[in-house]
Amino acid sequence: MKHSNRTLLKGGHVLTLDPALGNLRQADLLIEDTTIAAIAPSLSLNDAQVIDASHMIVMPGLIDTHRHLWETSIRGIAADYTLSQYLKHILGTFAPVYRPEDVYIGNLLGVLEAINAGITTIFDWSHIMNTPQHAEAAIRGLRDSGARAIFGYGTPGTSVWEWFYESKLMHPEDIKRIQSQYFASIDNLVTLAMAIRGPEHSTLEVTRHDIILARELGLPISMHIGGGSFGLKYQGVRKLQEAGLLGPDLNFAHGNTLSVEDLQLLALHGCSLSITPEIEMQMGLGFPVTGSALAYEINTGLGIDVVTGTGGDMFSQMRMALQTERALYNQDYIAKGEMPETLPISVKDILQMATIGGATALGLAYKTGSLTPGKQADIIMIDSHSLNLFPVNDPVSAVVLQAHPANVDTVFIAGKAVKQHGHLRYHNLERVREQALASRDYLIEKSKVNSLAMQT
Ligand SMILES: [Zn+2]
Repeated sequence: MKHSNRTLLKGGHVLTLDPALGNLRQADLLIEDTTIAAIAPSLSLNDAQVIDASHMIVMPGLIDTHRHLWETSIRGIAADYTLSQYLKHILGTFAPVYRPEDVYIGNLLGVLEAINAGITTIFDWSHIMNTPQHAEAAIRGLRDSGARAIFGYGTPGTSVWEWFYESKLMHPEDIKRIQSQYFASIDNLVTLAMAIRGPEHSTLEVTRHDIILARELGLPISMHIGGGSFGLKYQGVRKLQEAGLLGPDLNFAHGNTLSVEDLQLLALHGCSLSITPEIEMQMGLGFPVTGSALAYEINTGLGIDVVTGTGGDMFSQMRMALQTERALYNQDYIAKGEMPETLPISVKDILQMATIGGATALGLAYKTGSLTPGKQADIIMIDSHSLNLFPVNDPVSAVVLQAHPANVDTVFIAGKAVKQHGHLRYHNLERVREQALASRDYLIEKSKVNSLAMQT
């Protein structure tokens, strides 16, 4: 008699991302209910369901620390956008016409895409809280997906000009109702955070109000910082420091223009960073601060940001962050007529950022981010027989440099298999596609923009 709540992953190449356990060339991992019960070279149990992992890389699920999921249905629209074009067209034109059902299907489709690509935890930075129903639809989309998610309750998308340009509008009070109605327990897969505008997009008075409100509610806080000219103009970290508001509950997205002093302040106060390398480079935010984040030992994760302008998988972001940092470093030598002797950042550094680093940045390292007995069983298996990976000589370089979403064979979230044998186990994908298409058609029609016209 086999217990359905015990699953044994047998003989995988296990990358634990737990410094005490390291990498195990051939090991078994036992899942019991929602958690990782044991990892050892050989576990023998006669009451577990056994899954052959002998040609799999077994590792923690990837963590996307910063994404605006509601934009999934208008994927690719902003491929050639600068930040100001994005603000004008996506936040200024699309967001106001979004209905709750558009937010729902954007979120659901976005997280299903993420799970399929091996992402088990995602931070949804949701600045589309146009009505209370929009917030509820966003939460429903996250919950229906089956992923671990943080719902970053943001501001309305009704007017980017009023809400994102030196805004004097305080964060919506409805977050209190949302918290008591939907987030009574912190043990759920989906938990709550506050996505605030901060000093680059609202006045210091508003920022102070918003941070105090979040702290009264006991919620983690995320804001954009150091984004191109906004960062240089508003000097957000310095303002937060002077106001005595920096703290370990603050997560900052981007940070491209931060000074050495700013970065040292983030490290000192235990703040975290979310680097979204591809979008930062596209939209003129600046070069990713990947190397500095490592050098100053800031809790740092990676993120995808928006699929209006990039793809929805973390493999691409890992490579973007890694090779950009290397190119910047190498260029200093080339400029002097020299060649670099070493590289400044390794594949292991980047894999850590995409897993345990992200979990730490989001305050979730106590339950996810590494394969550690006692933590939640958020696990992915990557098929090392895939032609683009075979033969695997170094599993870390295989994951960081060579893998793509189709190599993700299996995904467990809290011990539940949500992708197996290369297929998402979601019950009705066709319905999701239908709803996403209908939403997309409505949004394009209603916003009266098309991708050609939007290039100005
Ligand atoms: Zn963002």
